[in-house]
Amino acid sequence: MSLLELTGVTKRYGDLTAVDGMSLSVDRGELVCLLGPSGCGKSTTLRLIAGFESPDDGTVELAADGRLEDVTERPPNERGTSMVFQDWALFPNKSVIENVAFGPKMNGVGRERRRARAREMLDVVEMADHADGDPTDLSGGQKQRVALARSLAVDPDLLLLDEPLSNLDRQLREAMQLELKSIHERLDTTMVYVTHDQDEAFTLADRIAVVDDGRVRQVGPPEDVYTDPDTLFVESFLGTSNFVDVRVASTSGDTATLEFPFGSQLRGPAGEGVSPGEEVTASLRPEHLSVETDGVRADGATRSREELAFTATVDSRIHRGSRYRYELTAADTSLVTSRRVADRLAAEPGDTVTVRCGAEHVNVFDEAGRRIR
Ligand code: ADP
Ligand code: MG
Repeated sequence: MSLLELTGVTKRYGDLTAVDGMSLSVDRGELVCLLGPSGCGKSTTLRLIAGFESPDDGTVELAADGRLEDVTERPPNERGTSMVFQDWALFPNKSVIENVAFGPKMNGVGRERRRARAREMLDVVEMADHADGDPTDLSGGQKQRVALARSLAVDPDLLLLDEPLSNLDRQLREAMQLELKSIHERLDTTMVYVTHDQDEAFTLADRIAVVDDGRVRQVGPPEDVYTDPDTLFVESFLGTSNFVDVRVASTSGDTATLEFPFGSQLRGPAGEGVSPGEEVTASLRPEHLSVETDGVRADGATRSREELAFTATVDSRIHRGSRYRYELTAADTSLVTSRRVADRLAAEPGDTVTVRCGAEHVNVFDEAGRRIR
């Protein structure tokens, strides 16, 4: 059941359209990540949900008691939302527990009850030992825990988080992501989490909404958006890939024969209106390119029924912890692969190898960047 519904929400600043007809639906208990490049309108969207900004067009609906209500014109304190920002902004002249109890205090909760609530939330974020401490003595990670406890203390229907971990260094950030996920699972709080970091989104999200130019381009479970993108933008924004210009050699019904610059062909979907001679873009994810020398497959995988196969030369092999990255050239096209070190291949720079990619892993996009299905 839907807890938040954005419909055609638009926000302009002068000539600039920061949010452009944004529509999004979030279910109760879900954690949805808004993922997109810097400046695409993520923070503005959160402020519109919280009521710190008012849209030029569209509606914001929230369901406090099970039924969606239009809150577009309602002030922030009447929306049941709570926000966590990138810079934790704790009150320096209040103790940790007073910081956390501040929201309930503003809501008129009595001293004993709000301190009990604050203690409970400090427990959740594992900061109970610092309850009487001074927030200025805390590390960045600890401050952000307190900020999270403060936002949770008001028991929001919807918690909004705007890149809350991006000021922390990588290790701490990754640890905090897992903690946040477990807090979400324990408390069942509905969350909209803004990030430009895809690893973070993949770690946390029940569903990812990929945002570009003020609009949701695709929304779905992380695996789905990654493996089944609707557009070239989504494919290229998530992870890395090899983009190859391909020519449509012929079409027959809903099948197109694609001619790769490596001299090999592959059957793919013709979609609507793909015609012979047309240039399209094929995307080959590095992890789907297998590499073999002298007929020995590096990964021992069974051959796909329908696959693309071509010859390439190895330019370099880079060791990256658990994986090898091979840089290859095939017919003037540079490609990268990512193989587990356990699949270790004897190929060295200068060697000629056979590269294969199962047809099911090749995504094809038309000139406008739309996926051909
Ligand atoms: P993101 O959070 O995805 O990085 P923002 O929502 O902060 O993006 O900003 C979207 C666009 O709107 C940007 O071009 C930004 O410069 C612009 N913008 C945001 N807030 C304001 C404002 N208060 N006044 C003018 N322009 C703004
Ligand atoms: Mg932002």
